[in-house]
Amino acid sequence: MTIFALVDCNNFYASCERIFQPRLINKPIVVLSNNDGCVIARSNEAKILGIPMGAPYFKFRNDFKKKGVIVLSSNYALYGDISNRVMTVLSSFTPRSEIYSIDECFLDLSGFDHLNLTEYCKHIRQCVLQWTGIPVSIGVGQTKTLSKIANRLAKTSKKTEGILDLNNSPWIDIALQKTEVNNVWGIGRRWSRVLERQDILTAYDLRAAPERWIRQKFGIVGLRTVKELQGLSCVKLEDESPDKQTICVSRSFGKPLTDYTALKSAIATFSDRASSKVRKHGLIAGEINVFVQTSPFNTDIEQYSKSITLSLHPQTNSTQEIHRAAMRGLNQIFKPNIHYKKAGVILINLSRPEKAVKDLFYPYVQSNDQLSKAYDIINQRFGSGFLQLGQVKKPKTWYMNQNYKTPSFTTRWDELPRAK
Ligand SMILES: [Mg+2]
Repeated sequence: MTIFALVDCNNFYASCERIFQPRLINKPIVVLSNNDGCVIARSNEAKILGIPMGAPYFKFRNDFKKKGVIVLSSNYALYGDISNRVMTVLSSFTPRSEIYSIDECFLDLSGFDHLNLTEYCKHIRQCVLQWTGIPVSIGVGQTKTLSKIANRLAKTSKKTEGILDLNNSPWIDIALQKTEVNNVWGIGRRWSRVLERQDILTAYDLRAAPERWIRQKFGIVGLRTVKELQGLSCVKLEDESPDKQTICVSRSFGKPLTDYTALKSAIATFSDRASSKVRKHGLIAGEINVFVQTSPFNTDIEQYSKSITLSLHPQTNSTQEIHRAAMRGLNQIFKPNIHYKKAGVILINLSRPEKAVKDLFYPYVQSNDQLSKAYDIINQRFGSGFLQLGQVKKPKTWYMNQNYKTPSFTTRWDELPRAK
């Protein structure tokens, strides 16, 4: 028999911000998207105040002030690092786990049923909280779909104190009745509309739905969900994530860029960042795409949007080679007197060095050359962007608007939290 636990961090971004800033505890917090656009995360207190997800900042600015909501720019360096720590802690409680998203992880607890699973999960929860500062909720079930449902209820019901074990539980029917069908994992809004028309309103109804009809309407994927609700595990744990297909580094600029030098410095930074990333994943790239564009929302200016794909031959992950190609690409698509609002670099056709296609004239690939390695070590030590290939200094103009960003407490030496 299979047993899965789904561990989900509570209000993850808001919780990360609170670790090093106790002043934020018990206060309504919202986190804004890049360039301080709209709300992408809310603390419980902010949810209670009725602030909707996706609320545009410029519309809600006064409302936030009135209600005392604390506004923060997103700090992805912090969230990524804390996520890694949480996942590392979680992986110590079972030999098999799957990182499902930045703040969710499935644990395979098959064979752990000699333990009291509620107690075991309490222990996991306590350790994660103590070692990382992040509160989590845990749902347990015989399938991934059931563990998702358990997790949802664990989070919304006070009685559960953040943990719900639906494995061999007398409460399973009630739990399924309490779960609306559109909240079942994998059932989108479109499917739930079709189901509701057949009076299938809850997960409980869906579990008993006629399988032939489900299969006809929703195919094998739909049938799998029904089987999962019945306790038959059909969606396996994916503990080896597939290799990345593309790596993209792009930004919207705080203020539009017009001059070539500024844009060149931005593209250079993006390509350096992208090549570091591709090395980190142990991959090499076969092509690079460079793109620039104006803001589609500003109709007063001349609109321009252009991208170009160049092949990297031989395939490579060298900072220098990728940088050179990016500059070549920019030169071909740059047009003067344009207000550029966004630009980026995408590395494509990625593969493992040992699987790379070699040809007669280039019977080798360029992977982890000494210079790039040194570059990574220095930037890891002194902070990303400390060392860059020869070019003009970054002009301030292309930084994002991040007026309310907290320090990168855990990833930059010069921003470490201070104890007073
Ligand atoms: Mg979460």
